[in-house]
Amino acid sequence: MISIFEAQQVILEKVAPLPSEEVDLLHGLGRIISEEIVACWDLPSVDNSAMDGYAFSHKALQSNFMNVIGFLPAGTERTVPIPPGEAIKIMTGAPLPAGCDTVVPIEDVEALGDGIRLKSDVKAGAHVRRRGENVRAGARVIAAGTELSPLQIGLLASLGSTGISVHRRPKVAIIATGDELVEVGSVPDGATIVNSNSNSIATQVLEAGAEPVLLGIARDTREATREKILRGLDADVVITTGGVSVGDKDHVKEVIQELSAELLFWKVNVKPGKPTAFAMLGGKPFFGLPGNPVAAMIAFEQFVRPALLKMMGHLSVFRPVVKATSSDAFKNIGDRPHLLLCRVAMADGKHIVSISAAQGSANLVTIAQANGLIELPPGASIAPGTEADVTLLTRNFAMRSVCQ
Ligand code: AMP
Ligand code: MG
Repeated sequence: MISIFEAQQVILEKVAPLPSEEVDLLHGLGRIISEEIVACWDLPSVDNSAMDGYAFSHKALQSNFMNVIGFLPAGTERTVPIPPGEAIKIMTGAPLPAGCDTVVPIEDVEALGDGIRLKSDVKAGAHVRRRGENVRAGARVIAAGTELSPLQIGLLASLGSTGISVHRRPKVAIIATGDELVEVGSVPDGATIVNSNSNSIATQVLEAGAEPVLLGIARDTREATREKILRGLDADVVITTGGVSVGDKDHVKEVIQELSAELLFWKVNVKPGKPTAFAMLGGKPFFGLPGNPVAAMIAFEQFVRPALLKMMGHLSVFRPVVKATSSDAFKNIGDRPHLLLCRVAMADGKHIVSISAAQGSANLVTIAQANGLIELPPGASIAPGTEADVTLLTRNFAMRSVCQ
């Protein structure tokens, strides 16, 4: 049976970044830029004052007193040069007028009649932001493949970009399978359960930055399964949950084979998530996830999320891993690597982790409290006080001392 790592490799070899689209600057947040950005002008575009103060020519300084001959707020430009030995009051960001090369901050002068007296020596060129000192026109400022955060959006805005080219977000068709399923809003009776997978998988898709397309429930017949999967092929990626094992009512494998899928794997050596399939179907990635809700979500994390990120142009597609000290004991008595749901927090500047004993693949309560995963090989155990590698499923953590 294929390992987690091999399965990820197979998937990532098959999927490729989607073509680009143009979006306006605000919608660039979190997207991957598909073009290199070159500065179209210098930043700053002119020499300007870094402080509220007085601008003057340092080399024309005769004494520590200067007449002040005007006022220059930010957003105004003075074309008439400042005569040698005189100063102009200038606000932060205002362009330095001709005849000036230095600014003295307001707090370093004393007002004296129509002028100012320098309280101490001022260095030539002080408190001036030089044209092009941050970036020169023509310099490369953002590499293609960069994930845009507010930091890059600000730079793009200052360079006059209104729109940017980013990789398209995949549309991801989500199909639940099962005669026992009812949609959210219905009260399950003895024989039915609520279709939770469509909701959890759709939000995992959203969280990854892609677009879910909910196709509802396929009943457990070949025809219904086939009809939904064919509709799913209008999207960029197709995901099914359930119907992927060897039960009499499991039609997913049969249907995609009928549709001439290139079946790349059908089972993965992992718990939970063993019945996970990956195929290329009509040139599109197809993921057959397990029906058990926890297994489906963990399989999404391991196999679908990296694929979606690659399709969106991300160069880094895996979650961060940290070392954390366990407060619990756990032994993998099974014969497959076990992905354990756990909860990570910070204490005294270090990561600590607790591992729930309830790791059942249908236990939605455990997963709802988890924010990390630990991979434990067969036979391996974790003892309280020992360190484990934890994959972080969220970016933010409670600091125990502050929040608990
Ligand atoms: P299956 O692989 O189709 O046999 O499903 C395995 C288990 O997962 C069964 O107990 C199903 O009832 C449950 N299951 C399947 N699909 C869903 C779903 N969409 N939402 C919640 N549970 C599901
Ligand atoms: Mg089923």
